[in-house]
Amino acid sequence: MKELVGSCSVCGREIYCHDGFLNGIVNEDKTISCFDCHEELKGKRDRSSANET
Ligand SMILES: [Zn+2]
Repeated sequence: MKELVGSCSVCGREIYCHDGFLNGIVNEDKTISCFDCHEELKGKRDRSSANET
């Protein structure tokens, strides 16, 4: 069972739900990111927060 949920807000890759498992991340602002972009965003966020503290 594979269902199209949406597309990555960063790279536009299609995000599917496989048997209830989403091959991406739903962000707090309801946008969807693939794992690759999520890792990249998370890394950027970590770096920026590290600069702030
Ligand atoms: Zn992506």
